[in-house]
Amino acid sequence: MTGFFITGTDTGVGKTCITAALLRAFLDAGRHALAVKPVQTGCLKTEHGLVAEDAEVYGRLAAPYFPDGYPEVCCRKYIPACSPHLAADMAGDTLTPDTLAEEVRTLGANTLTLVEGAGGVAVPLGDGMTMLDLMQRLDLPVIIVADNKLGMINHTLMTIEMVRNAGLSVAGVVINNTTPVSDDGSLRRSNVATIEEYGDVSILADIPNCDGGTKSDALFVEAMAKALPLLDSTAKSDVQNDLNFDADHIWHPYTSATNPLPTVKVRSARGTRLILEDDTELVDGMASWWCAIHGYAHPTLDRAMREQQGRMSHVMFGGLTHDPAISLCRKLIDLAPEGLEHVFLADSGSVSVEVALKMALQYMQTKGEVERTKLFTVRGGYHGDTCGAMSVCDPNNGMHHLFSGLLPKQIFAPRPACRFDEEYDPSSLEEAARVLKKHSSEIAAIIVEPIVQGAGGMWFYHPEYLRGLRALADEHGILLILDEIATGFGRTGKFFASEWAGISPDILCVGKGLSGGYMTLAATLATSEVAHTISADGGVLMHGPTFMGNPLACAVANASLDLLQQTDWQSQVHNIETWLNQALAPCRELRDVANVRVLGAIGVVELDAPVNVPQLQEQFIQRGVWLRPFGKLIYAMPPYIISEEEVARIGAVIHNAIAENRHQ
Ligand SMILES: *Cc1c(COP(=O)(O)O)cnc(C)c1O
Repeated sequence: MTGFFITGTDTGVGKTCITAALLRAFLDAGRHALAVKPVQTGCLKTEHGLVAEDAEVYGRLAAPYFPDGYPEVCCRKYIPACSPHLAADMAGDTLTPDTLAEEVRTLGANTLTLVEGAGGVAVPLGDGMTMLDLMQRLDLPVIIVADNKLGMINHTLMTIEMVRNAGLSVAGVVINNTTPVSDDGSLRRSNVATIEEYGDVSILADIPNCDGGTKSDALFVEAMAKALPLLDSTAKSDVQNDLNFDADHIWHPYTSATNPLPTVKVRSARGTRLILEDDTELVDGMASWWCAIHGYAHPTLDRAMREQQGRMSHVMFGGLTHDPAISLCRKLIDLAPEGLEHVFLADSGSVSVEVALKMALQYMQTKGEVERTKLFTVRGGYHGDTCGAMSVCDPNNGMHHLFSGLLPKQIFAPRPACRFDEEYDPSSLEEAARVLKKHSSEIAAIIVEPIVQGAGGMWFYHPEYLRGLRALADEHGILLILDEIATGFGRTGKFFASEWAGISPDILCVGKGLSGGYMTLAATLATSEVAHTISADGGVLMHGPTFMGNPLACAVANASLDLLQQTDWQSQVHNIETWLNQALAPCRELRDVANVRVLGAIGVVELDAPVNVPQLQEQFIQRGVWLRPFGKLIYAMPPYIISEEEVARIGAVIHNAIAENRHQ
């Protein structure tokens, strides 16, 4: 949708006259335009139903262009002249930004649309939502109308700030003078100049007060016609041009520089939805690689970011500390399995794995077990893309062959064969036990993803196997590192996946969901035994990223963890598990499907052969869903706030895509 949103610094500042005049100016300039009003309170009750005076003003000014009368352009009309949330409530109605935005879009389809708000930006619609939320949904450039009177600088600058904080652009400010000037006008001129300077905005018009407030329509139309050139310069970006640049110059994850996979451009994200440049809304089944657990643009997380940014975005962590980091580490120690008492804040999951590996090696060095320099892991794992992490990724579908000269050789056992939901088969641990015994003098640590192997194949294995590894580690004096970067914070139905086995690691890595998907942040936690041993005799842990403990990331992680604990995530994840089971069940009947499995908020369809990613991506987008398959796997790991209907849609879209591609 194209157009503008017209808001005011207050009610009664002349928004309607200005909207109507702007409409007329656009029509005079040969543009196809319409002014609409999402909510109109203070309507008159007549025999023809409710009449909105504002719409009558639009009709009066646009009359020459609407010979058959101006269309109905008010989405919701109420009689009481009060805030929309009250008026709607009295009428037994609910106003949500989503439905209002939908109604406005329907009215304004294929035309330049001027959307006039009700009152100012913080006017409530109900359920904690305000006019600003509707403005965000519509995502149009904003025109702010201000009445030139005492206090207007304050109101206007606050409005500008709120609009910008919401990620919207301010197209400009229209100054309206609704009362006669009592001095020579210099005070009012000064107000306008101050708004322009302090607000860093363009003044679209400064409409004088004539004859004690009886301004003619022509005066408004003339003023707004002059503003049109300023408004037309707020042109949209050239999407195709941007995508071409992107394809030519920007590397995306695991892609060719010369023959990249296609990308789509996202404009914004909200709740469970990604909103593309062309207004397409996609249900997000990926939670942005599993991290956006609360969905996008959550008001609590947004506020935490803004508040922290108001204090400080970053300071070095060497020699300095701060509340966001202290509070986050307190929480992590509280939430983590027993015994983990020391936290290292890292700036990504891979880095937290590097730190874990370094901790394990330094621990053994300090203990004098200098032969123990190797790591033991199972096949099918994924721990990140940095060198240490890569060395413990699956040697076949990982990147070992490319970097064989660089990567340390680690010790592997087969992928845990016993599935999560099968009866435990003790023989599945035999090979791991044999290898560990044989190499025990060389091994510093076991590193595995507990219960769910993520990017290495979305494989769910039996908790008893994990318990077995814990026992073997103890038996051989080896450390156990659990990489909960994908599984932590409720994803598998337990807060940490290690709880399925009732065990604690010596070292724990967390990341991804830690910051609710807002900032790159991870952490490595260690037991006192590990931390104190490394630090004995003046020892120090040799790692320290530039952005360690980044206050913005810690602040939003604090907010995300609080939010998680305040919400009933257990029920959310449990429901998603039920819905995924229902939604993906029909896929079991498809010939090309090898396996369908669900655990917590993870649903996986494994095919017999690798999928065609670009083809599937396009099919998914056409049907309004965002999924990113890899290898033989089409899977969903949605935000915890996803609805049953949305999960059903994801399931149907996956089913249809597999069924259709088979016939090609
Ligand atoms: C994603 C992931 C990592 C790597 O995290 P990054 O933030 O991408 O570096 C490591 N381990 C597991 C289990 C992961 O899922």
